[in-house]
Amino acid sequence: MNITEKFKSIFSQFEKDVSLINAGLREVPKSKSDKQEINITDKQIKSALQNIVRQKKNTDHFIKDFNHNFEKLNSSIIMCSSPKSFMTAWRLRSKELSKYDAEKIINDGGQIIPSTQRTRFRLIKPEEQGVMYNLSKSKDLIHVISHNEGNYDDHLDDLGVFKYQPPVNVSGMLKYRWCQFLSKHLKVDFIVIARMWFQYKYFDEWTLGFILAPAKIIQFEDDLKDLNTSLHNPLTLQIITREEALSSCHKLLSLDVDTFDIPIRTDLEDTKALEWSYDKLSTPGKTSKGTKIKKWAQKNNKKCLDGRKCNNILFKDLKTSEIAFGHVISQKWCDAFGFLRRKKHHPDNLYLTCNKCNSSLSDNFPGSKLQKTISNEEGTIGDWLRNSEEDINNMGKKPSE
Ligand SMILES: [Zn+2]
Repeated sequence: MNITEKFKSIFSQFEKDVSLINAGLREVPKSKSDKQEINITDKQIKSALQNIVRQKKNTDHFIKDFNHNFEKLNSSIIMCSSPKSFMTAWRLRSKELSKYDAEKIINDGGQIIPSTQRTRFRLIKPEEQGVMYNLSKSKDLIHVISHNEGNYDDHLDDLGVFKYQPPVNVSGMLKYRWCQFLSKHLKVDFIVIARMWFQYKYFDEWTLGFILAPAKIIQFEDDLKDLNTSLHNPLTLQIITREEALSSCHKLLSLDVDTFDIPIRTDLEDTKALEWSYDKLSTPGKTSKGTKIKKWAQKNNKKCLDGRKCNNILFKDLKTSEIAFGHVISQKWCDAFGFLRRKKHHPDNLYLTCNKCNSSLSDNFPGSKLQKTISNEEGTIGDWLRNSEEDINNMGKKPSE
């Protein structure tokens, strides 16, 4: 399916899901301790939906807007602060930034950016609005969210996770669900910029400034199960590093690149890549990382994707000692070229194979057919970690094993 068809089908599915939303009362937070009931009508639901799905008629235009949104976001990332500093700023719980507060934020990897009216970029204009959308006709993609101290439930946990309430109108609520919906169906993290305003004293005058950090929309599965009950739910977001945001933006901007027919991956976090690198995986032992992956593959009916010698045998029909980690780009080739050396044992350069197929490959690369299979079936160890790290880690934890 090419990207235009893909978006068309996402629009149709969304239309279907929204049609199950009923009119009626919804309870939404008014302030930290107060709630209010708002009445939602069929007409409002219909018009909010139309605003989004009318783009189905001109999907190519929508894709242009979509790319534009993330190109813009991509170039804002350079102004973003570290998650640690953003969390420090959040926890100050004050709109006025003292010299010492500022020092602390900067030492934690923050950048404080002075705001100015004299710019055409809304991101750095002093506008006190909650959520800012992309500048397309329908304004349906969340671009920036501003955090205002003291609003609603503004708890931020140690992983940088927080909730963000929707505007008190159906159109705004539905856009929250739409961005979650896109994230789910495009299988990529939806990235926004989180912004926090401050006043700080420059010489003897109070000036407006802010700090930014990228965030991704997370934990949306439950919301998308039934839009009728979740319509007015907040978004759950997590502050992320610039590096992760850039990697996700790259993926969001590569959705229409189908030249090689190879899905574009987001980078694996460095710590994860080291934790599951080849040298760790090849350490023997019943509870070693390598054994965990092999057992997980057996349990999940994974097979040897190579198959030249084994006819694609299921790993569960082999002993763990008969299973090996193969390199997509061969070890010798990586050794020969310095720029590859550091990535030689990266989980995305590894796939699971039977001993027989692996040794017949010797120092060669997998053939183009196998390369494609590994990619399309998400068969690198990195892919497995992206999708199932928790399960893999839990292998061998049960007392029966
Ligand atoms: Zn094999």
